[in-house]
Amino acid sequence: MSITEDNNKRLKDIQKLDRIQDADMAALLDPVQVNYTELSIKGKRYPAWRIIYNRALGPGEGGIRFHPEVDEDEVKSLAFWMALKNSLADIPYGGAKGGVCFNPKEADKAELEEVSRAYIQAFHPYLGQDKDIPAPDVYTDGQIMSWMLDEFEKQVGHHEPGMITGKPVELGGITMRGDATAQGGYFITKKMVETFLSGKKDLSVIVQGFGNAGLYMTEKLHQDGFKIVAVSDSKGGIYDKEGLNVPALIECKKKGKQVCEYEAGDTVTNAELLELPADILVLAALSNQVTKENAKNIQANYIIELANGPVDYDADGILEANKKIVIPDILANSGGVIASYFEWAQNRTGQILEEDYLRTLLEKKMNGNWKKMYDVFQERSGKVTLRQAAYILAVNRILSAERLRGRIK
Ligand code: NAD
Repeated sequence: MSITEDNNKRLKDIQKLDRIQDADMAALLDPVQVNYTELSIKGKRYPAWRIIYNRALGPGEGGIRFHPEVDEDEVKSLAFWMALKNSLADIPYGGAKGGVCFNPKEADKAELEEVSRAYIQAFHPYLGQDKDIPAPDVYTDGQIMSWMLDEFEKQVGHHEPGMITGKPVELGGITMRGDATAQGGYFITKKMVETFLSGKKDLSVIVQGFGNAGLYMTEKLHQDGFKIVAVSDSKGGIYDKEGLNVPALIECKKKGKQVCEYEAGDTVTNAELLELPADILVLAALSNQVTKENAKNIQANYIIELANGPVDYDADGILEANKKIVIPDILANSGGVIASYFEWAQNRTGQILEEDYLRTLLEKKMNGNWKKMYDVFQERSGKVTLRQAAYILAVNRILSAERLRGRIK
């Protein structure tokens, strides 16, 4: 089943729960703009997309992914989740996403730069600080944002740092953007532990994915006394029920090694890692990791979706039946886009804001958004999951903006 079909099922559930008219919901069933091209680099052709899902709340906003398995269904779904995430976070953006079907691990720096610039040459007419604002995602980073900004400014003939976020500070980025997704996820984890586990200490944690989101999340949880028992990256995982030496593991990863090359603990496959015993499972890699095939084997009682769409629709039902608590992606990983908003606002106003102030602001925003979601969850006690509570808020804010604009009646 495609991810889009899964998302439509989730929307159907929300429509039923909230008695939303078909004509209204139609505004959320398809993206408003799909741009597709093939980038031609040294005789190879790479499919590339930029998709805006909705813009009732503001310009498009969402990352660009470089991955050999990216396809239109995935980019469309990622754009859909961005629309809901931006809405739930109360920031003035619609939702968008981009992707290039290409393996950056097989490319040298020159080819990475060529792909980045070619992407902007193809899509620059649709991008801009008031049109659609990209950011980093899987296998894209500050260097790629820098080449993209440079190419965009070349094409349009003026400086416009607010056209892209996740930039290095020299080009108008903010220091906290680097670890903001994990920082936000950490604040939400603390709220979850306070709410469902009476602030219990020494909880054990598994982290799938050891890139930007997963590595910083592991570090923050470890520094706060959580016991990290397993982590993985694309090549496999490592497990020690007594707790891994996180600083040494991070050191090893930063030297360019894979986590499974770390010489301690037991090596495990990515599939095995998800089913290990622990209190909390943090999913920080890719979509569709927990499905109907493995959902029943998940032992952790609390699942945090730092990745986008790591739990599919069928798995949602199985996890709910097994009384597992899933903290939905559109809340758990929204720290990244909220920091992108801070960066964009700073680029536009010219004001320079202190990092401490921005971190405090992020904490306030994450905690406030947790409360909004949890209030709906409690008001409808036993009838909705946390994901559905978050979707109800996000969908209704977009529909309300559509209504105010007169696009739906
Ligand atoms: P990244 O490229 O920095 O890291 C991805 C990590 O996942 C790498 O460690 C990679 O080895 C690992 N990985 C890939 N396939 C895997 C597999 N099958 N099993 C286990 N690990 C695997 O990407 P990122 O920015 O950390 O993004 C990770 C997830 O978080 C994505 O779903 C992304 O959409 C989401 N996310 C990221 C941000 C952000 O600001 N970076 C914001 C919101 C959501």
